[in-house]
Amino acid sequence: MSVELACLDLEGVLIPEIWIAFAEETGIEALKATTRDIPDYDVLMKQRLSILDQHGLTLPQIQDTISRLSPLEGAKEFVDWLRERFQLVILSDTFYEFAAPLMKQLGYPTLLCHKLEVDGNGRITDYTLRQRDPKRQSVRAFQLLNYRVIAAGDSYNDTTMLAQAEKGILFHAPDNVIAEFPQFPAVHSYEDLKKEFLKASNRDLTL
Ligand SMILES: [Mg+2]
Repeated sequence: MSVELACLDLEGVLIPEIWIAFAEETGIEALKATTRDIPDYDVLMKQRLSILDQHGLTLPQIQDTISRLSPLEGAKEFVDWLRERFQLVILSDTFYEFAAPLMKQLGYPTLLCHKLEVDGNGRITDYTLRQRDPKRQSVRAFQLLNYRVIAAGDSYNDTTMLAQAEKGILFHAPDNVIAEFPQFPAVHSYEDLKKEFLKASNRDLTL
């Protein structure tokens, strides 16, 4: 029997949406756009970077906002529960430069995400996406290593990962995503998410 791997999305599942938190703190409405509004992540990121430039905002200012964020209530306990039962990898479209303080609060689970390019003044000049369709490609790679993958995420950018995994679960997903992807079970609390992981497992695990 193959070993089971849990893959989790980060923003919206374990931590708040970073760009939305920053948009709220700065009052810049246009920074609230997400992949729900602009499905092409490259287009969305270019728009975000040009807004930052227009307002002269730098990485340290974003990191200052992030330093005041906490994981969602119950997230750390959920991560601990999951790691006792599965190998865990977080698959995210965020950047290492943003995630670090929040990963500390989650006990540093393994994180695969993207990288920013920053100049000497803290200006974000560019970013490097690790690869195309990174969440699905990661799941595919784990499957080639003979892992059986159970994945959970909250949004459109997770659905190819959920489809590639042996089992996919929607967590905290908005109604339109739930309606569009009825093949995935949809839950809204960590207690129910634990139960979905137990159901999806091919081992005899308990709460
Ligand atoms: Mg998300």
